[in-house]
Amino acid sequence: MREYSIAAIPGDGIGSEVIAAGLEVLRALAAADGGFGLRIEHFPWSSAYYQEHGHYIPPDGLARLKAFDAIFFGAVGAREVPDHVSLWGLRLPIAQGFDQYANVRPARVLPGVKSPLADGKDIDWVIIRENSEGEYAGNGGRAHRGLPIEVGTETAVFTRAGVERIHRFAFNLARGRPRRHLTLVTKSNAQRFGMVMWDEIFYEVARDFPDVSTDRELVDAVTTRMVLKPATLDVVVATNLHADILSDLAAALSGSLGIAPTANLNPERSFPSMFEPIHGSAFDITGKGIANPIATFWTAAMMLEHLGEPAASARLMKAIESVTAARVFTPDLGGSATTADVTRAVLAALGRMA
Ligand code: ATP
Repeated sequence: MREYSIAAIPGDGIGSEVIAAGLEVLRALAAADGGFGLRIEHFPWSSAYYQEHGHYIPPDGLARLKAFDAIFFGAVGAREVPDHVSLWGLRLPIAQGFDQYANVRPARVLPGVKSPLADGKDIDWVIIRENSEGEYAGNGGRAHRGLPIEVGTETAVFTRAGVERIHRFAFNLARGRPRRHLTLVTKSNAQRFGMVMWDEIFYEVARDFPDVSTDRELVDAVTTRMVLKPATLDVVVATNLHADILSDLAAALSGSLGIAPTANLNPERSFPSMFEPIHGSAFDITGKGIANPIATFWTAAMMLEHLGEPAASARLMKAIESVTAARVFTPDLGGSATTADVTRAVLAALGRMA
């Protein structure tokens, strides 16, 4: 039997609620499938853990994580810790340390879900976010703190190697989709160095993918295109900052942040990849039992696909879609179901398929 080791890091806020639901569904899938098993280990790294120990990830933490086949991550962010400390304490050291440079964010309006757009059914996108450098490279500094001459810099870093590999990844992914269309998003009119290099390298890589059609959009213009002409987009490749923003918009246009999944991939598989819902800790609903677990279930489906279990992944997606079609919705989607209700409904749908 194939066995996969999963490191579960629920983290903060609703992270523990949705990861628990996700693991329940994953375990049920594995049990029903019979062909694969999951060995799950929990890591308690969170903002509470940080406040107790002075670090999110212990010194040997990344070395321990490296042995796993995949990381199933909840959320990080707590009221007691500044966001830049929690983000750089937990999520970014894993994503950067394991060179998870391709952040993949599918967006689709699931059956039964209402998009705020009239033609929301046309949304079927994959946003590919460069995840290792760019605006979030961590390259900057502060000087003369508190003085009138205080200065803060945040320099975006784009390398040829980093840009080329994300474009190549995006073209390969676009090639595998029916429409085979890739949109390049930058801001190369106003930012004439790194962004112009992005554009140039894109068209160099494009020569190797004559079967993929392309177009190009400035980041401000693509937001209007997402809203007004959603059917014209298929796969979008953009920088760390731009794609971060575009994918939140995509999630909202698909119905809710509570359904949007993401994968942080190390495509070469030299390190484990990390799978997480797009949403954060959602303090406003933490502990109420009403977090939407669909984003985490969809994320689990992406993880199964990556692990090499496409049949189980497809079963899970089908179960998710049957539950959304039946409108078993948490309050973010306008319903009154709890996390546990949605989880039970997905488990029941999986049971019916088995
Ligand atoms: P972070 O800074 O940690 O990424 P964020 O600013 O993206 O967080 P979220 O925590 O994602 O904020 O929450 C944004 C809003 O979306 C909140 O009102 C939250 O309740 C809602 N939300 C997020 N995820 C879910 C979910 N899974 N189910 C229901 N509502 C959610």
